Amino acid sequence: TSTTTSNQSPSLSNSLNGTFANGQPKANATFVILCRNSDLEATVKSIREIEDRFNRRYGYPYTLLNEVDFSEEFKNRIRVLTAAPVEFGVIPRDHWYQPDSIDEEKAKAAREKMQKDGIIYGGSVSYRNMCRFNSGYFFRHPLMLKYRWYWRIEPDVHFHCDINHDPFLYMQEHDKTYGFTISMYEYESTIPTLWRHVKEFMKLHPEHIAQDNAMGFLSSDDGNSYNLCHFWSNFEIADMEFWRSPAYMSFFEYLDQQGGFYYERWGDAPVHSIAAAILLPREKIHFFDEIGYEHNPYTHCPKLGTNWQDGRCSCDQAKSFDYDGYSCMAKWDKLMGLPSS
Ligand code: GDP
Ligand code: MN
Repeated sequence: TSTTTSNQSPSLSNSLNGTFANGQPKANATFVILCRNSDLEATVKSIREIEDRFNRRYGYPYTLLNEVDFSEEFKNRIRVLTAAPVEFGVIPRDHWYQPDSIDEEKAKAAREKMQKDGIIYGGSVSYRNMCRFNSGYFFRHPLMLKYRWYWRIEPDVHFHCDINHDPFLYMQEHDKTYGFTISMYEYESTIPTLWRHVKEFMKLHPEHIAQDNAMGFLSSDDGNSYNLCHFWSNFEIADMEFWRSPAYMSFFEYLDQQGGFYYERWGDAPVHSIAAAILLPREKIHFFDEIGYEHNPYTHCPKLGTNWQDGRCSCDQAKSFDYDGYSCMAKWDKLMGLPSS
């Protein structure tokens, strides 16, 4: 099967919505869903919703990843939902499991302490594997290498509005790298030493730090301390060329060597967000207001212009997380000079 590439001429695009006349999607993009066989019902719901609100008119392929084989039942129940191509991949062992370089005694003691302290997923090894995989490996999975753009979806999320344009093409045509809908504060107890390591990395690698970056979103004292703000990575539309770049790869390798994915519980959300905010010019980060999105317990509901009406949204604007005190949206709007909510 052929895949379209990002350098195809826009003049070819005189057909319906986001597809070329031959039915191929216009951007070299895929949905990516990491999930377990036990997530079947929740994954069906997420795909049903994104198909209804967007993809039945655009036909972007799906890539589902798992550290074990998907069952035949799982594959049948997913394939039936869409006319788009669907691929199922197994994650290579060394992309998922705790590496031998980690001192298991030390990691175990950390898990037990975090569990006792009531930190969410504090005692879980599989959650840590997941966070490390999403931080440094999903974009290197063999099934993902043929794509440049991805849209991350999780089981049990909701899309509240019609998406009347192609967000991948928007990213491509406006020179964007990382797109988000929800931002918030991280639990400090999951990342006690992360910022110290980020600062060491910045000192060691000034060549990777972008001019006009978004440090102002992460820190109110010019990078001395981290305010815990991050983009919620269960939704991401982004350019994998960034994750595959020398700047990000050296950032990930540096963090991975510190062991904090296992000795603490570093999330892929702060890791991705900090990288995007310091390694990219801030204009390359895009807030998708028009994509109404819910991941329990929070919803982003469109607020700007006629987005809510145009999207025939099912969400309540008054309950949008953007207005919550725990959201970092006001900081983003201030940095970017957007209308504050
Ligand atoms: P939360 O959003 O931080 O509460 O974490 P989730 O439980 O939603 O996990 C984040 C993503 O990783 C979701 O897409 C899950 O389906 C997936 N995930 C989490 N743990 C595992 C795992 O052990 N194996 C697989 N294959 N996927 C996982
Ligand atoms: Mn989730």
